[in-house]
Amino acid sequence: MANLRLRVGQFSHRGRRRANNEDWLGRFQPEDPERLADKGSLFLVADGMGGHQSGELASRLAVDQVIRHYVDAPGADVGRALRRAIGVANATLYSQSRRGSEAGVGRDWGTTMVAAVVRGADLWIANVGDSRAYLLRGDRLRQLTEDHVLGPDSGVGLHVITRALGRKPDVEVDIFPPLRLRTGDRILLCSDGLTSPLPDERIQALAGRYPPQEAAEALVRAANERGGPDNVSVVLVEVTEGGSATPLSTRGYLQEVWDSLSRVLPAEIRQRPAWVLILALLLAALMIIGLGFVLGLVVL
Ligand code: CA
Repeated sequence: MANLRLRVGQFSHRGRRRANNEDWLGRFQPEDPERLADKGSLFLVADGMGGHQSGELASRLAVDQVIRHYVDAPGADVGRALRRAIGVANATLYSQSRRGSEAGVGRDWGTTMVAAVVRGADLWIANVGDSRAYLLRGDRLRQLTEDHVLGPDSGVGLHVITRALGRKPDVEVDIFPPLRLRTGDRILLCSDGLTSPLPDERIQALAGRYPPQEAAEALVRAANERGGPDNVSVVLVEVTEGGSATPLSTRGYLQEVWDSLSRVLPAEIRQRPAWVLILALLLAALMIIGLGFVLGLVVL
């Protein structure tokens, strides 16, 4: 996969019960080919906590810190750079939390973090907390991360996060060994506002049904239709072939045309299958040709 390309969809919503959106998304995709080969593309989802807007501050600050320190990290070891960047973000949040109300943050502020780096055909994942990464390959959805929460047998009975950024001076980060991507794979990063109300089967069905942006929006909408109990955020990255050096296949070209077209259409229309729209366009074209023919006859 020499000319791997990524198509990215992302969407974040407050949900139906919360006053604020404490989730935050981040993305770093260098345009310079050399830098891209060196760093790859970085995608992030953070789910802040702490109330009174400090959750929002925490997730934004953490995303900002991870991007900055990942980009500046020396060496080519992606896993190490991710671990270090998340560690620095944790230390920054922790020092703010020590200052408490003076820094405008609540005592229990913090954030989860799930990060994905795609470099060449390799995928690295890092996580802390209960925001997840999945891989959709063909029809199969596989959860790549483990949630850092108390299990159902803990006796606490609530969804308690056991690891988050900003809680302790150091944080343990799960880094997964690089996974070889294939054309057609989709990487899904999301907050628990998606995974709490939606079963994996539903996520699997929606994550692969539309182009990435529409799929991200459809997933968020589905969580809201199930009550939208929490902020809900989705980043969906599709691995495709192509790029400037290789012409797109006919199917790839049609997909590009469809994507460009669907971006300007209202959501209700673009949710319909592509063939419905193509049929409608064909009918419209036939009507215009027919009208031209009739007018031609009248003029003559
Ligand atoms: Ca949440």
